[in-house]
Amino acid sequence: MEINPNFVLEECPICRGNGFVVHEGGWNVQVECSDCSAHTVYVEYETEEEKREAEQQVVCLWNLGKVIKSDVGE
Ligand SMILES: [Zn+2]
Repeated sequence: MEINPNFVLEECPICRGNGFVVHEGGWNVQVECSDCSAHTVYVEYETEEEKREAEQQVVCLWNLGKVIKSDVGE
C-alpha cells in the first residue's frame, strides 16, 4: 500500500476527517478516509497515463462526496 499526498482532497464527507489516495496492488486506486471507513470506488489502471487519470477520477469522486461507508448496510 502506497500513499500519495500530492492531491487536493476535501474533508471526508462523512466525518470531516482527512482523505488520502491509496494505491493497491499497483493496478488500482481509491481515496480513503483516515478516520472512518468511508472510501470511493476503486478505479483500475494499466499505464502511467491511466494511473494519473484514475487518481484524478477518485479524487473528483471524493470531493463530490461520492463515497461508500462500509458499515452502513444498504
Ligand atoms: Zn471519514
